[in-house]
Amino acid sequence: MSLLSLFVCGILAAAPAAPAPFPTLAAEAPLSSAKEEGVKPVDRVLPRKVLVFSKTAGFRHDSIPNGIVAIKKIGEANKFEVEATEDSKLFTAENLAKFGCVIFLSTTMDVLNDEQQKAFEGFIQSGGGYVGIHAATDTEYTWPWYTRLVGGQFASHPKQQKAAIDKCECGKTHPSTSFLPDRWERFDEWYNFKKLNPDTKKLLNLDETSYKDGKMGKDHPVAWYHDFDGGRAWYTALGHTKQSYEEELFLKHITEGIIWSGRMKKD
Ligand SMILES: [Zn+2]
Repeated sequence: MSLLSLFVCGILAAAPAAPAPFPTLAAEAPLSSAKEEGVKPVDRVLPRKVLVFSKTAGFRHDSIPNGIVAIKKIGEANKFEVEATEDSKLFTAENLAKFGCVIFLSTTMDVLNDEQQKAFEGFIQSGGGYVGIHAATDTEYTWPWYTRLVGGQFASHPKQQKAAIDKCECGKTHPSTSFLPDRWERFDEWYNFKKLNPDTKKLLNLDETSYKDGKMGKDHPVAWYHDFDGGRAWYTALGHTKQSYEEELFLKHITEGIIWSGRMKKD
């Protein structure tokens, strides 16, 4: 790993001798008192509990139940609690404070009202984690903060087919992609994007020469992460199909995305 790649990926602060370039945080600070006592959100230990949110107000993926089952199994194997809901009324400051990470699993269109959006912004601003899977970018087009958080907007997709994914420089070191083959061939529905947030760190890039009707050219990111507004956000465009949620590599990809965004310590 070069010094340059560390810098580009925004992880220069990590000690070179450390076993992993993404250290988890050790400082103890209860959520409720974090603000009053002046604890920086980044120093908080987040609840080891994730909320899977899969409300749809547009297209509904039939892989959502498979995704929920898979994430529950991931939680069991990695010792974090998983609650799944389609009820946007759970998006209050008080309720969100119970979670370390909120996963938007193939949500679509307008799923939160203004008040719920404010509560979710507060959750991220207090250091919370966000994971977006697949249609999470086909969600909340008129909420600019969300577009920046998830990192872009869905534009279109060609027919489902096999394609090859290459690792970006940051993808070689991030735990959600470092274990993947340099060139990862798999079947999925491949999104084109608009309004990509240039501040995200790109993990995976789709090779448009490997499939038909890609629209973005050479730079076609399909997974990325960033520190955003006090919290951490991680997104993968993969995961349209039911089969995805039985693929070992895809499951490890999202497992490590959840662990990273929720700042979970590993045993
Ligand atoms: Zn899809």
